[in-house]
Amino acid sequence: MRKLQKELEALREQGMLRTLKTVAGPQGPRVIVDGREVLLLCSNNYLGLAGHPALIEASCDATSRFGVGSGASRLVSGTMELHEQLEARIADFKGTEGALVFNSGYAANTGILQGLAGPGDLIFSDALNHASIIDGCRLSGARVVVYPHRDMAALEELLQAEASRRHGRWLIVSDGVFSMDGDLAPLPELVALKERYEALLMVDDAHGGGVLGASGRGSAERFGCLDRIDLHMGTLGKAFGCFGAYLAARREVIDTLINRSRSFIFSTSLPPGVLGAALAAFDIVDSAEGAARRAALENNRQIFVEGLRRGGLDLGESVTQIVPIVTGEPQPTMEAARRLLDRGIFLQGIRPPTVPVGQCRLRATLMADHRPEEVAAAAEMIVRILAELPR
Ligand code: PMP
Repeated sequence: MRKLQKELEALREQGMLRTLKTVAGPQGPRVIVDGREVLLLCSNNYLGLAGHPALIEASCDATSRFGVGSGASRLVSGTMELHEQLEARIADFKGTEGALVFNSGYAANTGILQGLAGPGDLIFSDALNHASIIDGCRLSGARVVVYPHRDMAALEELLQAEASRRHGRWLIVSDGVFSMDGDLAPLPELVALKERYEALLMVDDAHGGGVLGASGRGSAERFGCLDRIDLHMGTLGKAFGCFGAYLAARREVIDTLINRSRSFIFSTSLPPGVLGAALAAFDIVDSAEGAARRAALENNRQIFVEGLRRGGLDLGESVTQIVPIVTGEPQPTMEAARRLLDRGIFLQGIRPPTVPVGQCRLRATLMADHRPEEVAAAAEMIVRILAELPR
């Protein structure tokens, strides 16, 4: 215990101690923190569906009809009709033969990579891929080649270098939207490379699903290459407002994972209330309301980004609702977050290992149901607070 205390104290001194912030009341564009209403600028509830009446009603209805818990893992007695309905809906959404629901995005990425790759296989992974992909690569036991972020020339060199001694399966894996930078993977180029080198391509579209593309099918729809991705991973806890995750892919991939994926096999399946809400979320994403929510989100994004850029801030390569404001070291980052909260804006500071050392940031995320004028005012406030900080 003394050692733990010392380690925690050291983290505190470095400005690296993480603590939890409680949000009172329901999730929405404004939430109650420390007894005060503040503008929420760090939620992945991008379309505002987490508190949507249709999802709440669908969740309550599924719970009252089917019970609170699923009672078992999928391979025992925990596969309910709602799991099958949701999987059929997801496969239809992505245009694949099948889909498999996982208990979270973290469980999906670790389970998919561990289930599909093993010793003797090779995984090519973008340097800024999400931690759950990194952990999945480790769990798989495959050899992992990390390529520089979005650098397709470097990836091709690495593929070429490995080609002469090739054996086993090759998998290229990338976030579709990078979670801490809001930039996009160059999917058309990744597709061309995976076809040229006969690898499988897995795209984690946790932050693109529901949001990007004319119909919200994600980053691959935006690039017009939905049918060229082998493994579509997505989450239900962000734009879809629920919880859980999925893989949409060919039947043999799904059947392999049912047999091999440890996070799928050894865990109680998602409960009815979540599944019912997720089905309602797909209805909304596919409706005129979904399109209107995507348009409102994009409008808010443009207003916010213009405000920050006018104030001289560098937002990197962000082209999505994830807007990184890089602040550098942990202390000024957390001080900026504290001052923003004082002025009514909840915007978390992000520190290593979530982002590289020296690249701490305020990771702002927009929502469809933010009001444009409050987004504009928040951008001004962020510019002002950052200018006030000691350098
Ligand atoms: N992939 C990416 C790119 C993510 O950003 C996240 C969540 N932050 C996950 C996977 C994990 O998803 P979940 O929160 O559902 O576990």
